[in-house]
Amino acid sequence: MNKTYFESNKKRDCTGCGACALICPQKCIKMIEDEEGFLYPKIDKTKCIKCNLCIKNCANKNDKKDINERAFAVINKSNVQRENSSSGGFFYLLAEYVINNNGVVFGVTFNEDLVAIHKYAVNMKQCKEFCGSKYVRSDLKDSFQQAEAFLKQDRIVLFTGTACQINGLKKYLKKDYNNLILCDILCHANPSPKVFKFYIKNLEIKNKKKVKNVLFRSKENGWKNQTPIIEYDDGSRKEENSYFNAFVEEMINRQSCYYCQFASKRRISDITIADFWKIERVIPDMYDSKGVSLVSTNSYKGNQLFDIIKNKTKYKEVDYDLVCLFNHYNNVRQHLMRNIFFKQLANGTINESNIIKKFNLYSKKSRIINKIYRYERTAKRIIRIKRYEKRKRNRNSNNTYNKWV
Ligand SMILES: Cc1cc2nc3c(=O)[nH]c(=O)nc-3n(C[C@H](O)[C@H](O)[C@H](O)COP(=O)(O)OP(=O)(O)OC[C@H]3O[C@@H](n4cnc5c(N)ncnc54)[C@H](O)[C@@H]3O)c2cc1C
Ligand code: SF4
Ligand code: SF4
Ligand code: SF4
Repeated sequence: MNKTYFESNKKRDCTGCGACALICPQKCIKMIEDEEGFLYPKIDKTKCIKCNLCIKNCANKNDKKDINERAFAVINKSNVQRENSSSGGFFYLLAEYVINNNGVVFGVTFNEDLVAIHKYAVNMKQCKEFCGSKYVRSDLKDSFQQAEAFLKQDRIVLFTGTACQINGLKKYLKKDYNNLILCDILCHANPSPKVFKFYIKNLEIKNKKKVKNVLFRSKENGWKNQTPIIEYDDGSRKEENSYFNAFVEEMINRQSCYYCQFASKRRISDITIADFWKIERVIPDMYDSKGVSLVSTNSYKGNQLFDIIKNKTKYKEVDYDLVCLFNHYNNVRQHLMRNIFFKQLANGTINESNIIKKFNLYSKKSRIINKIYRYERTAKRIIRIKRYEKRKRNRNSNNTYNKWV
């Protein structure tokens, strides 16, 4: 087993889920923001009784047992709901089922200061705020305790978040609840809230107006065009992609994401939702510019729920092993300049007035090495595809998948 953050003192061993702080019987763990803008636990040693509960229950471990996971390409039949979502709009339908059954939905929204926070919703108007990805680490606030309170009132609870946040909730609750539905959003990494805050400030300084909203995955120019749209308080809107590029180039993400314990086919929640990349090759009939979700059902409960909701979708079951080859079921490699970037952020060289320039500069500086990383990724994918083909051949299938590369 990997060492926990408390044993190794390495930031890569902590996802910041906060479960340890809630579990500690002495309440002597506090979650403190570091100079990169991420939360880490800090123990008040004068109060600690060395019970080791924080080590035993650390949530940075994927202890999922294998079950027969299934995967589906899914499109929400409502075009409006699909357009307001990042991929095929499956989350909306899951939320609708829970709300229609007097349940409570937890998800991520921006507050009035554009800070990504976890919140709960009891109607679909509130749930709509959760639609669409906010590519920044969310503040969980009191959501674990609130979810527990609703569970104890026998309300159905749908909790959505990254896999590490979901595992944090599981460790905090300590037991399974029949009325709890866990849904993780497949993520390759999650960026720093401090970096996002500086980015928003930099946009405001440059444009001399206030940013009202960031639409990370507007589909105005198609699902595959991932340039975010910035909305200002004077009603104007503009495409801007420096922050998003830094995120996908792995420059501004939490250290644990580069060593993620959950980046695997073994998902720890009931249902996982992702973008169905390469749908145009796998099921050409289902491809259009509005987006398709890749949904995997990872438990008996997940399978049952999918069966209830599926009539509101166009869906097709797919070979999970195949689709895993095209998404982030493996760890990503950190950007060459990542540590330099965060060092400069800590000492103030990078600040609210120059962060956009620095994103662009560091992106440019490492263009060649990024290209090499991309080739490396493609090479690894080819190897995985070859292995997949071999396994398939051994099962008497004549399919070849060279065309996926
Ligand atoms: C940081 C991050 C990285 C991602 N990386 C990938 C990836 O590498 N590959 C991939 O296929 N998909 C990735 N996704 C997921 C993808 O963007 C879509 O969210 C997913 O396909 C669900 O789409 P949907 O249309 O069903 O619902 P949507 O309406 O788009 O989904 C909204 C759901 O996402 C949750 N959510 C939004 N922002 C956050 C956040 N910051 N933290 C936790 N939960 C959040 C909401 O609570 C809600 O449950 C990522 C999402 C995030 C937030
Ligand atoms: S429980 Fe969560 S916050 Fe605490 S050390 Fe483990 S990963 Fe970090
Ligand atoms: S060892 Fe026990 S008392 Fe000390 S910080 Fe961990 S959980 Fe709290
Ligand atoms: S990549 Fe892993 S560690 Fe990072 S946010 Fe996603 S689940 Fe958590």
